[in-house]
This record gives sequence, C-alpha cells and structure tokens, in this order.
Amino acid sequence: MSASAFSTDSASTDPATTDLAAIDFTALAKPGISELAPYQPGKPVEELQRESGVREAIKLASNENPLGPSPRAMAALRGRLNEVERYPDGGGYALKQALAAHLGIDHNRLTLGNGSNEVLELVARVFAGPGDEIIYSEHCFTVYPIATRIVGATAVQVKARRWGHDLQAMAGAVNERTRIVYIASPNNPTGTWVTDGELERFLAAVPPRVLVVLDEAYYEYARARSYPPASQYPDGMSKQDRFHNLLVTRTFSKVHGLAALRIGYCVSHPQIADLMNRIRMPFNVNAPGMTAALAALDDDAHIQRSLQCNYEGMEQLQAAFRSLDIPTIDSAGNFLTFDSLGEALPVYDGLLRLGVIVRPIGAYDMADHLRVTIGTHTENERFLTALREVMSGLGRL
Ligand SMILES: *Cc1c(COP(=O)(O)O)cnc(C)c1O
Repeated sequence: MSASAFSTDSASTDPATTDLAAIDFTALAKPGISELAPYQPGKPVEELQRESGVREAIKLASNENPLGPSPRAMAALRGRLNEVERYPDGGGYALKQALAAHLGIDHNRLTLGNGSNEVLELVARVFAGPGDEIIYSEHCFTVYPIATRIVGATAVQVKARRWGHDLQAMAGAVNERTRIVYIASPNNPTGTWVTDGELERFLAAVPPRVLVVLDEAYYEYARARSYPPASQYPDGMSKQDRFHNLLVTRTFSKVHGLAALRIGYCVSHPQIADLMNRIRMPFNVNAPGMTAALAALDDDAHIQRSLQCNYEGMEQLQAAFRSLDIPTIDSAGNFLTFDSLGEALPVYDGLLRLGVIVRPIGAYDMADHLRVTIGTHTENERFLTALREVMSGLGRL
C-alpha cells in the first residue's frame, strides 16, 4: 500500500472521497461476500413516518406478534434493567434449565443464540467450508444462503414445488460433498410446511453424516392450526432419538413477541451443541432477553391469546382475498403471501402511501407477490381497505 493512502496533506478537504477511493475493499473481501444482497428488513414505522409524513402507520412486515410480548415477560424485563452494567450469564444456565424442563430434554442438547438466526449460522460455521455443499430450497428463508456464503460453502438451491420445499428432490441433491440441509417448516416467506410423512421419508433417505436443520420458527402457529392437522405437522424434536443428525431451531421472536431481544435456540445431539458452544462468541445472548424469555416460556394464556388472534386474522384475510379473487399461498405461519396480480412494487408503494407496511419479497424470486403479517382485527381491516384502494387504482381489481 502506498504511503499516500494515509497522508493527511491532501489537497482535498474531504479525505474520505479521495484517499480511500484508491483502495478497493470489495476486492479484498472473501469470495462470494460482495455478491450477497444485504438482508432487507421490513421498513420500520418511524422510517415511513419520517420519509412520508404518514401518521399512524401500521407495520405488517416482519411477522411480529401484534399483541406484543407476554405481560409476565415485560414485568421480568423491567426487573432486570438496573443490572445492565453486568455481563450476562454466558452459559445461559437459568434459561437452558427452564427450556430443558419445558421441552422434556437434557440441557446439554441446547444451544442459545442471538435469535435463532445466529444458531442457524453457527451450524454452518462448525460444519461447512469451501468445497462443501449446503442444500436449501428455492424461495427459502434468506438466512440459509447468507450463512452458506459466510462460510464459503457451495450453495445448492433446489427448485420448489408449489412454492414449498420439494424434500424428495432435496434428498436427491445430496452427495458426498453435502454437509448441511436447511428446511424451514413453515417456510418464510411462503408459509408452506412439510408433512410428517415427507419429513420421515427425507430423514430415512439422507445419510446420517449429513446434518438436517429443521427451522421451526413458527412451530406454535403450525401446531395450533386446524389444518395441517397436528398429526400431520411434524414435531421435529420427537424424531431426534432416531435421527441424531436432525437439529431443530426455535425462537422467542414470533409467538412470544420478543423479537427485539434476540433469543433463539437449537436442540441437537449433545456433541453438536458442544461444538457450537466452542465457536459462539462469549455473551452472545443478552441478559434482559434471557430473563424475558424465561418468563414468557410458560405464559400459556398469552400464547393462547396470540394463537387465537392469528387464527381469526388468518380467516379474516383469507376470506377477503377470496372475495377479491386474489390468490394466496396457504400458510401455517402468522403471515400470508398473496399474488399482487402483476409487479408487486407498485402495490407495496401504494400501501406505504396509505401508511401500511407489508413486505416485498423480490429477493426471494417472488417479484409478483407480497407478504403480509397477520395483525389485529383492526390492522387487518385497515390493510384490506388500503389494498382494495391500491389494487383498484392500478386497474388490477
Ligand atoms: C423469523 C424467522 C426466524 C427467527 O429469527 P430470529 O433470529 O429468532 O429472530 C427463523 N427462521 C425463519 C424462517 C423465520 O421466519
């Protein structure tokens, strides 16, 4: 590097635009990183209000619980706020004990993460690198491609079938280089799920040295639905005795309403948990989050209220979409993805102008669809009113 790159006597008054332009940091990055599109989060309500002056905007863009967190979790959280100068318990003892009891498993099978996103990435960091292959589905949750790129592994994307994971084709894509297969059930952004039979056949077909990561972020919603019948929606953890290569991840971000606190976990064979524990950063999981999660875990009343709200909201939206003749993808989660009857972005923008934030999913190769999170009855009505106006304005209804 030339000495002038750091010289301060440059003629320009803005060193950032002159000296630094000489260095191409993109070229220095590991292969694959610069091609990665940054994760696009749902637009925050504050941002929309700042940009457009829209007041009272509603956000149905990130699959958050419209009822918020459990009151018990909030009370516990307030009790912890005077201790933020202390590092958290790096081993997550209390939360792991509570989760182990709740799930009926040994605590040494648990790995806590900064959201389940972190544990999804830890799996890749422990088990895959350059030359290895990681399999996932078309239209799958975006964290799997990101994790694959981060570790320099080769992505093998298998074509979806009717928007869902084609497990048979995914099993067929396994070869001697395969290290990990990611399965989201229900998947985000499609809401599709794998049935018990499909999962059983898949696990039987895949060699035991290939790790199968079953992402159950929406587990509670899927189990609670009248369909898929609970008997058909698989309970991944119950299969781990027979399939030691099966990992299950869950989160406190969705039905528990604690997305901001970033608490998720993985249940796996103890050896896998031990390996992930070695490479995670110390104190990856924060103390207020663990305290709130612990209190939320057994608040069945709040969970039931949340599931009921979701069930009614899903019926409300599906009935409205049917009456508008707008196709939707059947969803077992707390969101619904619908056909925008043409390019989605004009619909997205129109809804924004009316103060309703939904999620464009062009990054998932679904440029003609939008994803809406099930809100409260009032929020859903407001979304539907805005949608009718926007779609009519665009001549699509
Ligand atoms: C929301 C979501 C997660 C959970 O993310 P956190 O990091 O736990 O907040 C995981 N998987 C899928 C498919 C999701 O939609």
